[in-house]
Amino acid sequence: MLCVSVCPKGQLREDKGLNKRGIKPIKFLGKNCTGCALCAVICPDVAIEVYK
Ligand code: SF4
Repeated sequence: MLCVSVCPKGQLREDKGLNKRGIKPIKFLGKNCTGCALCAVICPDVAIEVYK
């Protein structure tokens, strides 16, 4: 959930339920993403890749 809290544009939010790995997924809204990559930098699992 660190990425949700750090996004300056509110483009990430907690999704409903669990995925098939039993992990609560994050939903990317994607409308106003600036590509700042703060979400990727803060993720301890290196689970996010940002590209334009
Ligand atoms: S790259 Fe996009 S989704 Fe990630 S923190 Fe920046 S604005 Fe938010």
